[in-house]
Order: sequence, then C-alpha cells, then structure tokens
Amino acid sequence: MKALFDLNEWKIIEHNFDSNKQEAAESIFSIGNGAFGQRANFEEKYSGKSLKGSYVGGIYYPDKTKVGWWKNGYPEYFAKVLNSCNWIGINIEVNEQQLDLANCQIDSFYRELDMYRGILTRKFICSFNDGKKIEVESIRFCSMHDDEIGAISYSITPVNFSGQVKFIPYLDFNVRNKDSNHNEMFWEERVKKADDNKGVICASTKITNFQVAVAMHYSFQKNHDEVNIKADKIEKELYISNCFEINLEKGSKYTLFKYVSILSNLSDSELSLTDLAILKVNEAKKYGFKKLLCNHEQAWQKIWKNADVIIEGDLKAQQAIRFNIFQLYQTYTGKNPKLNIGPKGFTGEKYGGATYWDTEAYCLPFYLKTAPRKVARQLLLYRYQQLDKAIENAEKLGFSDGAALYPMVTINGEECHNEWEITFEEIHRNGAIAYAIYNYVKYTNDISYLEKYGREVLFAIARFWSQRVNWSEQKNKFVILGVTGPNEYENNVNNNWYTNYIAKWCLSYALEVDTKILINCKSLLRKGEKKKWKKIISNMYLPKIEGTNIFLQNDNFLDKELIPAASLQEIELPLNQHWSWDRILRSVYIKQADVLQGLYFFESDFDLKTIIENVNYYEPFTVHESSLSACVHSILFSLIKDEKKAYEMYLRTARLDLDDYNNEVSEGLHITSMAGSWLSIVEGFAGIRVKHNELSLNPILPKNWKSYSFNIVHKNQRVYFKVHKKGVSIANNGNDELVIYLNKRRQLIPSNNQKEILC
Ligand code: BGC
Repeated sequence: MKALFDLNEWKIIEHNFDSNKQEAAESIFSIGNGAFGQRANFEEKYSGKSLKGSYVGGIYYPDKTKVGWWKNGYPEYFAKVLNSCNWIGINIEVNEQQLDLANCQIDSFYRELDMYRGILTRKFICSFNDGKKIEVESIRFCSMHDDEIGAISYSITPVNFSGQVKFIPYLDFNVRNKDSNHNEMFWEERVKKADDNKGVICASTKITNFQVAVAMHYSFQKNHDEVNIKADKIEKELYISNCFEINLEKGSKYTLFKYVSILSNLSDSELSLTDLAILKVNEAKKYGFKKLLCNHEQAWQKIWKNADVIIEGDLKAQQAIRFNIFQLYQTYTGKNPKLNIGPKGFTGEKYGGATYWDTEAYCLPFYLKTAPRKVARQLLLYRYQQLDKAIENAEKLGFSDGAALYPMVTINGEECHNEWEITFEEIHRNGAIAYAIYNYVKYTNDISYLEKYGREVLFAIARFWSQRVNWSEQKNKFVILGVTGPNEYENNVNNNWYTNYIAKWCLSYALEVDTKILINCKSLLRKGEKKKWKKIISNMYLPKIEGTNIFLQNDNFLDKELIPAASLQEIELPLNQHWSWDRILRSVYIKQADVLQGLYFFESDFDLKTIIENVNYYEPFTVHESSLSACVHSILFSLIKDEKKAYEMYLRTARLDLDDYNNEVSEGLHITSMAGSWLSIVEGFAGIRVKHNELSLNPILPKNWKSYSFNIVHKNQRVYFKVHKKGVSIANNGNDELVIYLNKRRQLIPSNNQKEILC
C-alpha cells in the first residue's frame, strides 16, 4: 500500500496540490478538540471537488427516514450530527479576481498537520490570470485548552506587485449535509449582529431546537505591526462578513488573525448564548493568537505525555499510531457527558456522528488506559443515562419487564438505524455494552460505579437476552434465531456463535455481580429470574464444527462455498464496491472479526490451541472491509505469536486511512477503529492484560522494530513500558509499589522506580 502523504514521525505532509486527493486530504488533515471539529477545507473559496465539513458535537437533526419499503419498528428518523457554521471562511480578491486554487495557477503548495502541536498549516504561491502572484500561509487550530475557541492566522505576501487586496472573513450557516435524506436546510437564523470588525450569528436547528452561536473577531498586522482596519459589514440570511480592502506592498507580509468562538446550548448557562459567544471571542482576541496557541500546545503536550507510543525503527508504524491517537483525542476528551464517539468523529458525515457499539468494544479500553478514570466512566454513564430509552426500544419490539435493547445507532438514546438486518438483528451490540462494564470494573475495581449505575444496565440487558432466546425442541437447547453477527456480510442467520456466547456470558456475569460482587447490596433479581437465567446459561446452543475446536459462525456457515479470500482478484476488492450485495451475502467472505471477536473478548475462557485453530480457520475467509477487523486479528496473531501476521494486521489497522486501504477515506476517517490500532500495540504486541487487579505482559517485538514504548494508567498511577531487543524496561511513576507479571514471572516495581528486566 502506498502512503497518500509523506512519512514523518510527528507530521502528515503534502508537498504538491493534487485536486484528485483533495477530499481525502480534507479528511486526513482534519482538526478538532472533542467539542467541535473541522475538515481541512480551505479558508478561501475553493470551487473544486470538496466535502465541506464543520461539526459541533451533539448537535443533531432527526432526518426523516427514507426507505423503499417500510417495516414496523423502523425508527422515524436518523439522528445526524449536522454540518454547522463555516467558521474558517476568509475570501480573498486580488484585482477583482477571486483566490480559488481550482482556478489559479499553483506554483508551490505545502500542507502540514503537526500532531504534536495540534495545528494545521498550509503554504502556497499562486498566480492569477493577470500574472499577479501571492504567497499565502495559513495556520489554524481548534483549541484543546478552551474547547469553545478556534483561531486562524492567514497571511498574504504579494510577490510581484503592490496593489489592492480584498479580505472577506465571514461566518456562514448556509450549509447542508451532503447525506441529508430530503435535501433539507436544517438551520434557522435566530440572532445576527455585525460590527466593523466582528460579528456573531446564532442559529437553531429545526425540530430539535439546538442553538449554536458562533462569533468572530479579528486583528490585522503588517510585518508584525498592528494595523487598524475599517471593514464594511455584509449581512445575508444566516451569513455575516466583514469586508475590507487594503493596499499591500510588494514583499510585505499581511496577516489576518481570525478568532472564533463556537458555543452550543448543550452546556447550560445563565447568559444568552449569543452574549456568551461575544464575550468569549473578545477574550480570545485579548489573549492574542500566540498566547492561545501556546495554551493549546500545552494542552496537547499533556495528552501526549500519557498517550504517546514511541516506535523505534519503523517510521510508517510510528506515524500511524500517532495519527490514530491524535484523531481519537480530537474526537473525544470526556469533558461533556452528553457527547460520545461517532465512527467518523468530526471528519465526515457517514454514520451521522452517532454512537455505535464501537465505543464500548474498542474506544473504552483506550481511554481507560490513557486518560484519567473519569473519562471511561463518562462513556459508561452515557449509556446509563439512556437506559430508559433502551427499555422503550425493546418494548417497541415486543420485549417486556425491563428488558433493554440498546440501539445500534443513537445520539439521544433512540434507535435511528433503519436497515432491518441491522436495526432488528444486530443485537450483539447489547453484549458489548455489558462487556464494557465488566472490562471497566475489572480494570479499575470501581465497585461504586457498578453498584450505582452499572448493574442496572447489566440486568436490563440480561433480561433482554433471557427473552430473546427460545427453546429448540429439535436441538434440546436454547437458540437465538434471526440475527446479524458482527460480520454484516451475512444476515438473518441462526445461532451466530458470537451472539449466543456473549448472551450466555452476560447472563452469567449479571448473576455473578448479584451474588458474588455486590453481596452487600439488595438484589435486583426478580422472582424466577435466577432460575431461568441459570437454565439458559447451562443450555445455550453454541455451534461447533464436529471433531474440531472450531466454533461455527452460524448454523449454515458450512453450506457455503469455502473458497479463501486469497483467490479473489485484486480488482474485486473491496467486495462492497465491486460485488452485488446478493453475491456478498451468499459468499463465505467475512467483513470483520466475528467468532474471533468472541475469542478476543473472552480469551481467558479458551486454551491457546482452540484460539489458534479458530484464527487459522477464519482468517483466510476474512476480507477486513470493516475498519474494526484488522485490529482484532492483529491482537490474536500476537497472542498466538505469529509476529509476521500480527505486524501485517497492525499496519493495516493503523494505516487504514493514511494508506486508504478501503478506498473511502474521502468520506472521513475511521475514528473508532483507531482505538483498535492502539490496542494492537498494547494488548497485542505487548500482551498487556489485567488479572486479579494486577497487570501482566507477554510481549513480542515486531522484527523490524528496535523498540516500542508507551504509558498506561493503572490504579491511578502512570506505568511506563519499553519493549526492546534485550528485554523490557518498566517504570512505575506512582507512589505505590506495583506487582507486574512479565511472561508469568512476578516482578515488584517499587514506587517512583524503574526496572530493567532481560528476557
Ligand atoms: C461495521 C460495524 C460498525 C460500523 C461503524 C460497520 O461497517 O460493520 O460493526 O459498528 O461500521 O463503525
């Protein structure tokens, strides 16, 4: 696979402008701060192919469902995070010619995303039709320090002329979602005010009535000296701009600093949103670009201190893991309890910015080990707050007595996915939510969370499973019929092993919580439940290929033509872009880990021989056309010590977007699977596990790596690991001594101490 952009350990760099790559670049160079995010669209007009995207977390619209054939139980709408105000806009005119890189001659172009500093820079020289040449440099960031602030420094140097140049900074809410079902306009204007050199617009979403206020303010400099500008204001529906024309001298550099505040009524405040936005933007201008940038960089440094992974000897791998970590923190910081992690974060419209099982299955373990505990807790509380809706959702489908079915896709707790095979059938998502509770409690021992919140969620999910199974006379077992497993290239199957396994596990864990962990709390079990659940646990049907240790993906899997993916032609891949859906559904090809997802979650329930047999059986049929696939495979390959395959799968997961494996990066990045890249290193190569509240590791070192190192937060203290050719270094940065099992041998690491262990 060829990297789309240059390799560099901290940066993504593009040296030449290629309009065919622009949409992909817009995704990859995206910036954000957990509260809002921005694709790497240009500040100035660009009339070439582009996906404009500026998103504010949690601000959604219920886009009316559009399906060919309505099925009872479908949600009425798909909640979509909306494309919001274009806050970066600065149009430029030179001698009445508009700066537009689709129409100017580009003499040089450079774009850089500096992940250490969290800034996007662009420099170019271009010529207009009349031969006038300008050099442009823009720097922008979404402040990590104050997540309501964005800032841009936009400089122009006339290269071969002196003359008038017009600057038109603006705010524009006239934006639509490309994926909107009915091409509706979602925003309505509330308040708009413009002054000589500032302005504010507050708009609200139709139906959901969210409000977003965006204010702008600027200053202007000539070669670092402040210049007073007097701008004309232009006001249109949902739009304001300040326009000023100024005589530029050849060779001098003129910089417009645009400060922006972006606020939504997701956070409560006494003041009106518009007043608050003005207040914040004034404050930002007072701080100035440099100070804002400095605070922003410091906030990033703090994140990197805990979350960075250093890989020596492999630039491709190094760049990729930093890119993944960077994008994850740009998407979610855990500050706002109303937010979660959309599969594309703030980088595209697909998946509507909504929450999927991805959060619990992939992202939670990443935040659990790289951020303060409250961040992972916050993710779990999000589901707790939506428990009533999950119960309602299950009721709509005919379940009762407090059974909960969490949605496959949601923002406000209501299901909004509307493909029957996913909405009604992909019920394994419920299991991932229960698993995340288990995972969190195992890692943190936060029993108070389990008591106050976790167990309610767990029991409601367990109730769902106990009603979703049915007794099969023929099999003399409980079965689960009509489901879609994680492998979405197969629908309406019976007895998907993964779903059956997680359902059984969930019932056992709920009973364990009730009878062993929370023994001092009043039981939540209702009459008859314990007996019924135990009966299901002992009699769940778990299909297997006879005479082997291979778990059968579902009842009819063996009727398929069992032809490995290696025999597919390259031009057929990805299958979902080249084959009919019908052909995919009948084929043996597996979109993403399915049985293997179960072996990953429940590794300790199986012996190594069983894991090896299953990995060797399913891997050859897997096409990894979900971003969530390769990481699970990488972790399992590390576990079975197949270093070569583990590394191949690591690169595939970590560089999925940077190398555009599935030919779709233009739509946005795969944020949730990025957590899987991190897991491939920490749980995969390093083999970090937690058993009985202690850490263990069982590392391998990819052949071409000299070393890799990372930190994880454990028992509220930071532990540093470096795996190198001779062994492992472990540093305990906390005040309590730590016990760590390295290749099963107990090691004591005193507080604030480092230990070198040869192996
Ligand atoms: C995967 C799902 C996943 C969704 C969002 C789909 O392609 O099959 O498992 O939840 O993408 O990432």
